[in-house]
Amino acid sequence: MEREKAEQRIAELSALLEQYNHEYYVMDAPSVDDYTYDTLMRELRALEEQYPEFLSPQSPSQRVGGMASNDFQKVSHAVQMQSLQDVFDFEQVAAFVTRCHEEFPDAVFSVEPKIDGLSVSLEYRDGKLERGSTRGDGFTGEDVTANLKTIRSIPLTLRENVPFVEARGEVYMPREQFFELVRQQEEADEQPFKNPRNAAAGSLRQKHSAVTAKRKLDIFIFNLQQCEGREFTAHDETLQFLEDAGFRVVPSRSICKNTQEILTAIKAIGNSRNDLPYDIDGVVIKVNDLSQRDAMGATSKTPKWAIAYKFPPEEKETVLREIEVNVGRTGAMTPVAVFDTILLAGTSVSRAVLHNQDFISEKDIRIGDTIVVRKAGDIIPEVLRSVSHAEGAQPYRLPECCPVCGERAVRDEEESVLRCPNISCPAQLHKQLVHFASRDAMNIDGLGPAIVTALIDAELIHDAADLYALEKEQLLTLEGFKEKSAENLLKAIAATKNAPLDRVIFALGIRNIGQKAASLLCAHFGSLEAIEQAERSQIAEIEGFGEIMADNLYTALHDSHVRELLERLKAAGLAMTYEKMEVAENTFFSGKTCVLTGTLSNMKRSEAKKAIEAAGGKVSGSVSKKTDFVIAGEDAGSKLTKAQELGITILSEAELIAKLGQKA
Ligand code: NAD
Repeated sequence: MEREKAEQRIAELSALLEQYNHEYYVMDAPSVDDYTYDTLMRELRALEEQYPEFLSPQSPSQRVGGMASNDFQKVSHAVQMQSLQDVFDFEQVAAFVTRCHEEFPDAVFSVEPKIDGLSVSLEYRDGKLERGSTRGDGFTGEDVTANLKTIRSIPLTLRENVPFVEARGEVYMPREQFFELVRQQEEADEQPFKNPRNAAAGSLRQKHSAVTAKRKLDIFIFNLQQCEGREFTAHDETLQFLEDAGFRVVPSRSICKNTQEILTAIKAIGNSRNDLPYDIDGVVIKVNDLSQRDAMGATSKTPKWAIAYKFPPEEKETVLREIEVNVGRTGAMTPVAVFDTILLAGTSVSRAVLHNQDFISEKDIRIGDTIVVRKAGDIIPEVLRSVSHAEGAQPYRLPECCPVCGERAVRDEEESVLRCPNISCPAQLHKQLVHFASRDAMNIDGLGPAIVTALIDAELIHDAADLYALEKEQLLTLEGFKEKSAENLLKAIAATKNAPLDRVIFALGIRNIGQKAASLLCAHFGSLEAIEQAERSQIAEIEGFGEIMADNLYTALHDSHVRELLERLKAAGLAMTYEKMEVAENTFFSGKTCVLTGTLSNMKRSEAKKAIEAAGGKVSGSVSKKTDFVIAGEDAGSKLTKAQELGITILSEAELIAKLGQKA
């Protein structure tokens, strides 16, 4: 890759990985699976290795895990809690063994399952549990002692009498417990955790220990970080000591002498994976001798004497029983494979999206086929290929009519998608209304999928405009509605009458017209009338719009159903006005790029962003050479450090406020 492109890609990958880190470690809600994350990280590392001049100390490749949250007391770790270097194939395992043997021909290795949870440190003074903390960034973690005490297998008093011990272990949520928690969360209409690892992290960082206690977490100890009063020469001795002291120590570990033995142990652990009541995501291989470890040392992030072999995404064969066709909000008919249930990456899987006719034809997937399904990490399963056809199986064709309303489907050549064109199709109506009510659209609190179903089934609504004609008495006839909840829903609906035009346009759910496009459109035309009168070409001229978007919007706004809906929404009292943000000229911030970091005390980040934009500035998410100002609130972290290194002007919140009112 060319130098310039590499620099760009490094910046892009860094920003993306930072975002994923935040979702994973801070929000406990990843949006991509670990396999995707690891692949991007590998790409970043390779580029940084090739172009070391672009390796910044703030790069996601250079840091361990998450950040300590402000909700808990911070704990400085006396011994850094490092991560592990990941490897993904047996050759890399062999290379590691060779490297170790070059330095220490007699090195032997401890091979242990890599428990998929989160790392904690437990400190005992005179045999009593004194403090327990999370890893955080490796140097500073969070004090979660009270929550850790709810884990029954953590001894409060040790059976061995030593002045001081710090043990390190992995807290995890048993799989059954995870499924039960997800079931409860779904029932309570809460966003369920994506996988047991995030569930464990979220549960351990609860403000109320009673909540943690209910989550039934458990722990395996895998390292002795510090110990006063005892000397050890090898890792396996320390684990034995920890076991004798009363800890639950990582199981199925073995001591191996060479690559062959290690690979056999890895395979054995891999084979046991599905039978374990908890998730493991790999195998850890560590030099056993403690003096050899010391001599080998560590990088800033990982020890040189250990690696983590990560399991590849799991693949399994199963039989395709049926292809179901789902109709989405925009009428897109999506085929879904329904197959015999298999256990993949710790979860039961029986369905996977088949995308479209082209996908099915290319792979020649037929009903009755033996297929291979893969689940990378914990998120979306996919059909990789068909292994064999059942006798007499015919090539599969998607139906010509919508399976819900029977309308003849049309093929959208651009997207190779089959669509039901009937916007009154009940399948579309339900999804459209859920979208209409969603947070970024009209934000109608309390109008979730279940209530939309109830309203449609009772024939109280046939389109979004009907929402505004609902009456309390009607709602009271529906199951689950009481006086108060009915009033609240009506209030929430009425409150949307003043929603700005861009939200209304987004809420219509026009294909390819997302939030950003809706606001660009409004900023450009200013009113619904002007948008309705605009020609296709005028719409396509908007910066950020393409031909397809313009086409979809134009077609939708000239569709009689959509026109009628807009008329009815207007008649229902929706204001549908748009106030263009006035951008001041010649201000301190005109044309400048700013980055906000840390916590602001007088305004929300979104308010600060708006104010900077109104003053003619741009707000970006990451610090680079192109950044003009970094506005640092309290507890600003890596972005502030990076800004200091790059010599970028740093403003305090007070300075920001003062400069906002200032001309250039
Ligand atoms: P890691 O998961 O690669 O491995 C290091 C950790 O393994 C240690 O900190 C320790 O807590 C744990 N461990 C479990 N059993 C162990 C044993 N027997 N001996 C020693 N350690 C053991 O590193 P990490 O820094 O915790 O997490 C990085 C990984 O998290 C990435 O590789 C990625 O897969 C995942 N991640 C995913 C996303 C996402 O968006 N999906 C985001 C960030 C991180």
